[in-house]
Amino acid sequence: MLFKRPTHDHLYAALVAKDASYDGFAYVCVTSTRIFCRFTCTARKPKQENCRFEDTIAACLEGGFRPCKRCQPMLAYGAPDPLTKTLLDQLEADPFHRWGEKDISALGHDPSTVRRVFKRRFGMSFLEIARLRRASLGADALQSGDAVIDAQLDAGYQSGSGFRAAITQLFGAAPAKLKDQQLLKADWIETPIGPMLAVVDDHALHLLEFADRPALPAELQRLKTRNSTAVALGRTTVTDQISEELNHYFQGKIQPFKTRLAAGGTEFERCGW
Ligand SMILES: [Zn+2]
Repeated sequence: MLFKRPTHDHLYAALVAKDASYDGFAYVCVTSTRIFCRFTCTARKPKQENCRFEDTIAACLEGGFRPCKRCQPMLAYGAPDPLTKTLLDQLEADPFHRWGEKDISALGHDPSTVRRVFKRRFGMSFLEIARLRRASLGADALQSGDAVIDAQLDAGYQSGSGFRAAITQLFGAAPAKLKDQQLLKADWIETPIGPMLAVVDDHALHLLEFADRPALPAELQRLKTRNSTAVALGRTTVTDQISEELNHYFQGKIQPFKTRLAAGGTEFERCGW
């Protein structure tokens, strides 16, 4: 940042005034609707307490916000670049799609040109933007009551990190709507050989598995049935402990794992280190 960030009050005043001088420099993320807008958007202005201001589109997307359909904050003002517009329109038409370079080629675009154009305009590639859009959809599904892991698996993530960023913005450490204390908490642990899912309660580890393991959904289902409970996104001190132990393990510091395993849990042993 080259300029000092204005205060929240100042930015909110500019938003209410639809101040066009902020276009391209600041965006409002509306926490109640999970949408981000230009300051000049003609939609009714949100309450100040529901506004979060970001200075890049990347930060809005990473926060799990989706672009407003009315002011289309991802398009440049004036004459939008046709390449950007076409691809973003395609993305909005089917945001659940798992985009790859072959899809870009199939639309008649050169993937390396697309990468360059998007990186310059947004600081991230089109594929990264598409991944973040899926992540925010996963977050929406979660907010509407779907089990988090199902939402995540449906959305088809290789890695939970983008999803996690979106969820963390929504719920903090754990989903707010979850009142049942018996819930198991699931969270991703990044490892050098891929993300792992750790399912824990306050005392013990119930499941630790690689995210891309085909058997993972079945294992989660078994776990839910066996414990007569749901699994929600979140972590406990057990997650921190196993994460630290894995970290040591992958650094080559071989030492016995001390994390307590849940009774009846056998998945852990099948991970095969
Ligand atoms: Zn808008």
